[in-house]
Amino acid sequence: MMMRMLQLRLLNTVAPAYFFTATAITFVLHLFFFIPTIFQTPGIIIHTSIFLFLMLNALGNYVMTIWYPSETTSESTSQTCTVDCLDAYYLCNDHHFCKLCKKVILKRDHHCFFTGNCIGNNNMRYFIMFCIYTSSTCLYSLVLGVAYLTMEYSLSFENPFTFLTLLPLSTGYFFIGMIPGLQFFLILMLYVWLGIGLVSAGFCCQQILLVARGQTWCQLQQVHLAKSQGMWRANLKDVFGSQWALGLFLPVLTIKTVTNTTKDQKHN
Ligand SMILES: [Zn+2]
Repeated sequence: MMMRMLQLRLLNTVAPAYFFTATAITFVLHLFFFIPTIFQTPGIIIHTSIFLFLMLNALGNYVMTIWYPSETTSESTSQTCTVDCLDAYYLCNDHHFCKLCKKVILKRDHHCFFTGNCIGNNNMRYFIMFCIYTSSTCLYSLVLGVAYLTMEYSLSFENPFTFLTLLPLSTGYFFIGMIPGLQFFLILMLYVWLGIGLVSAGFCCQQILLVARGQTWCQLQQVHLAKSQGMWRANLKDVFGSQWALGLFLPVLTIKTVTNTTKDQKHN
């Protein structure tokens, strides 16, 4: 148990570091390698704008997820109802105590290691937008990466099975000195983008389904709470706010943040 918590704490430090490193590398590769090599003058401006837009939204929503955490300081909710998940205690009134954040979280969904924060009622919308834009940035990077490798190193991606053999072959070629370090690194990055892109897209679909059902991941794991709550329209509006359309394009506040005391009064 102690060992498992230690592993989770380590993951909480490593995952944001990994996220920032991957972001910085993606940024440099696009602006200094991919876009100037693949495109001509009008294309350079268009693709730089698209890339910066995707990146701004991914990073902006990342910051908003951390900036508006779902913690509450209410004393009345700190009574334990049951002991459940490994990393959290279930409290009464839709509250959880996260053992990693060491805070009471309102409508806790899960602890996100990439942001080092709990995802709950307040920051769910930013988390979902973060997943959508991270996934878009990764899939966009994958396409430009493939185009760059085709142009610069004459690699062919016409065979649909290329992705199955590319990594083992390139690793072998790199260690016997047949391909340059940069080419090998770019091939590794293709797999990083593919992996993060697919995981984020999957996560995003799962979260949207849960939000529409008025549920959290934590509730789904507890059988007695695993039933759909309310109408999906109202549930989505509750999370995304009335200005949800603006939130789709910019990482901004789309809902009035209700203070913890009013929220607790509403629940009781
Ligand atoms: Zn947490």
